[in-house]
Amino acid sequence: MTMRIVAGVDLGGTAVNYTFLDESGQFLIKELFEHPARSIDGPEVCINQIIQGLALAADHAGAQLTDVVAVGLDTPGPASANGVLSSKGSTNFVHSNWAGFDIREALEHQLDTPVVYLNDGNAAASWGHVSLFGSQSHATSISAIIGTGLGGGVITSGDVVVGRHGFGGELGHVTIPFHHIEGIDGLEPRCNCGRVGCLESLCSLTAIRKNLLPFFLKQHADHPLAKEEIGTAAKQVRGLAENGDTLCKEIFRVQAHALGLFFDEMINVFDPDALIVGGGAIETTNDFRDWFIDQIRLGMPPQRDEQKSIPIHVIPNGDTAGARGAALEAAKLVRSKEHSVRQPDQE
Ligand SMILES: [Zn+2]
Repeated sequence: MTMRIVAGVDLGGTAVNYTFLDESGQFLIKELFEHPARSIDGPEVCINQIIQGLALAADHAGAQLTDVVAVGLDTPGPASANGVLSSKGSTNFVHSNWAGFDIREALEHQLDTPVVYLNDGNAAASWGHVSLFGSQSHATSISAIIGTGLGGGVITSGDVVVGRHGFGGELGHVTIPFHHIEGIDGLEPRCNCGRVGCLESLCSLTAIRKNLLPFFLKQHADHPLAKEEIGTAAKQVRGLAENGDTLCKEIFRVQAHALGLFFDEMINVFDPDALIVGGGAIETTNDFRDWFIDQIRLGMPPQRDEQKSIPIHVIPNGDTAGARGAALEAAKLVRSKEHSVRQPDQE
């Protein structure tokens, strides 16, 4: 008997992370399984790395590559809905050959197996959603993934909103009424996209480095982080906040309140079953995470009674979320193909 499995491949800036999903819905790799991505060396080298790592991962999972019937691939954007990377390049794909590169097609061609593409935020959102509701549910959820930037995804009635150009669920660039956040009078939160007041400009590692930390250090020049290079300092904010540093905790409060304002907008658009948070920012102690979730709630404007009960969840197995979400998308592709085979052709 042959076992049919699908693979999830999560390509990040420096590493590829893998998982496999079998027909019973079990992930064959529970923890993080990584292989160097070498994306800096360009697409040719990187695609080879992906395939080499996939074989090692299959070995690790006790599976055969020949059993893989579909692959889900996710990468950081910007990219089209079908996995054509931006012609203008991006932070994670700096080699010039990446510009306009069709990474989905390239991997599909080399593996000779169907490959489906998602951006990394949407993939993580997909896993967050399924971990709560299962893969057959028609629930609606909004996921915000707080990392270097702010990614995420919107899932309505069980489907990821990809959009016409693949920019569906670009939650980081939704502007929020940030003037409602206390304690940041005078701050003009500039976003990398050129606009002011995007969620990412107030809730991400980039927000800390570019906007929040400089703003608060100006008022507290005696803070130890003031002596450090700003990029190095920004990476220490979470650790210091966990340990009770007032200024750093204040930065996390502002991020949480920004997320609260954003979730309030989403609640009124989608009336979701759940709000979901993930990403490096909340890979932290349970106490700090609980405090952060409480602060998100506190940052929301007053809610109607029906809205107050919408839960805020944290994505489980956060570092494997992208690979798991990509595998789920591959499973969906397999199911849709089987479904279409059974349907008679429309006249
Ligand atoms: Zn923006």
